[in-house]
Amino acid sequence: MSLAGRILRALGRIGTHGRIGTHGLPGVCRALLPAAFCGLTACVAPPGLSPGPSPLDPRTVLPTTARAPAPGQVGASLDLAWERLRAWALPADEPALARIARTAGRLARAAPAADPAWAQAEPQVLIVPGDEPDAWCLAPARCALTLSMAQLLARDDALLAAALAHEMAHLMLDHARERLAQAGAPVPAVGAGLLLEAPHHRVHEHEVLGLAAELMARAGYDPRASVGFFAALAPVSGAGGSVGYARRHPLEAQWPDVLLRHARRVLPLLP
Ligand SMILES: [Zn+2]
Repeated sequence: MSLAGRILRALGRIGTHGRIGTHGLPGVCRALLPAAFCGLTACVAPPGLSPGPSPLDPRTVLPTTARAPAPGQVGASLDLAWERLRAWALPADEPALARIARTAGRLARAAPAADPAWAQAEPQVLIVPGDEPDAWCLAPARCALTLSMAQLLARDDALLAAALAHEMAHLMLDHARERLAQAGAPVPAVGAGLLLEAPHHRVHEHEVLGLAAELMARAGYDPRASVGFFAALAPVSGAGGSVGYARRHPLEAQWPDVLLRHARRVLPLLP
């Protein structure tokens, strides 16, 4: 009998034929069942961290024709995307780079991840040319901003943290793998372009907001700044439609309420 079955039998919930009954349980047992299933499933993830979607999980809003990337294919696409950004990087503006690196490092070290790559990540940051505000994090604490984004966030560390935490949350939730899978697992030369340019699906945006807020709070940044960050992007996007970061991260119309709800939930995590 499975571990779940043994727990259910111990709670008096399962008969000798293996069927699960729905009544006759003492109240205490009914109360214990969710905790038992938590022990079997969700608690394998580090506290506070969603384990992230499988690239092949069927979802009603995403195509189900996904093809799993080969081993190393996601990392190769992420690395190649970083190399392309590095080739475009502007000559170092040391104070600006140091500030971005400090923020990225704080967020990565605060990440509630079992992967030591996050806690030990040495920040690598770039500023690349670009009139459209945009940002990418392609490995723990390895992030790039366009010059327009760097200027937009130059005066407020919490706004900068909001941009980087959102990107890091996509990375932690393994969205790169899912995006590549949904695109048919292209070769890294194509996958790198997709990761830099293609918009995220709204499902990804929905999934990422809670973790991004948590990263900010754990790193000591007020997570409510995420509302100000996305609001700051709106005037830049203009009447002709969203550009840059706002185009690649399409939020639902009710995004301010959703961001605030996530932010308030994690406020107690602020050091
Ligand atoms: Zn996003």
